[in-house]
Amino acid sequence: MDCEQAQALLQAHMDRELLPDDRPRLDAHLRGCATCRAAAAAYRLQDADLRLAFQSRRQASAAVADRVIAQLRGRDRTIRRRLPWTLMVMSAAAGFLLAFVVFRPWQKSADLVRPEPGRQDDQAALTPLEKAESVVFALAAESGQTCEVLAPNGSVWQTLQLGGKIAFGTRVRTAPSSRCEFQTPDGSEIRLNGGTEVLFADRRRLELARGQILARVEEAAAPFRVSIPNATITALGTEFDLLCQSAESVLSVLEGATRVEGKERWQTVQSGEKAKIVNGVVTHKEQLGRKLDQATDWALDLLKLKGPNNKEVTRRVNDILASIGETKTGSFNEAEIRKLGYSCTTPLTRYVQS
Ligand SMILES: [Zn+2]
Repeated sequence: MDCEQAQALLQAHMDRELLPDDRPRLDAHLRGCATCRAAAAAYRLQDADLRLAFQSRRQASAAVADRVIAQLRGRDRTIRRRLPWTLMVMSAAAGFLLAFVVFRPWQKSADLVRPEPGRQDDQAALTPLEKAESVVFALAAESGQTCEVLAPNGSVWQTLQLGGKIAFGTRVRTAPSSRCEFQTPDGSEIRLNGGTEVLFADRRRLELARGQILARVEEAAAPFRVSIPNATITALGTEFDLLCQSAESVLSVLEGATRVEGKERWQTVQSGEKAKIVNGVVTHKEQLGRKLDQATDWALDLLKLKGPNNKEVTRRVNDILASIGETKTGSFNEAEIRKLGYSCTTPLTRYVQS
């Protein structure tokens, strides 16, 4: 048996499709071949977690693969190197594992910080509102983290526990080390970094006084607006990060498009763009693409609590997969990529092959 056959059997094994007769032959090869043994170990490492995490994500992976291949098509193909495909799979697998170490989707149930039973009622009494018309403190990066709220027309900041609800017109501020997420009635999610103060003015309007938010805005008929000193950022269903500092603000648009309106004119900032805003004017704009995710690394503490099926986590993982695809398969042509992954078991190789 040569290495190629051994790899095929390893894949069959991971797919639980190895025939009983083949097992001794594969074992014999593995005893004598360090390369295939290493590949087998890498498969085993990935298998359990990835199988779980990716069951529902095969289609998404295929879509990403199409995107990667489309990008590869446009590239200069004069430099092509043939790599042993086991090396390619293993190096890509290493990147893959990294992504999963970062997101730890398997920890979702263990780590998820849930509001304590009974708490919600206490907080509801604080701000007696219909659930449909209040904003909910939905996630805290760490157990026990709270934030402070100033009720409309109130004069004293009060502590808000996880699961607590606030009325529109309430100000929220976070301690330097605390990160939390609020959910508005339409399902939009507003993450607050440490040292942030924001006013939830109404269903679709925020005022960011200082600090940083990451907003994932649900689509709705009414535009979603965030005001900062001297400017308003308007968004329809989109995801963007906004850092509000005294001298300048930084807007990073991860999905969709936004409009920045100052006193005199407005400019659009598109998906993948990072813009500096000074006195209500976009003074600098650059296209960062997926690198923009780094601007929102602070929110990963919150995102990882959402589990592998969350749309945003999926998008981020897909972006990581696409990056891995670009770096690890950049020197392969499309036919090779498709062929190499044939009948592979691991999600990674399915992704490469799709
Ligand atoms: Zn071998």
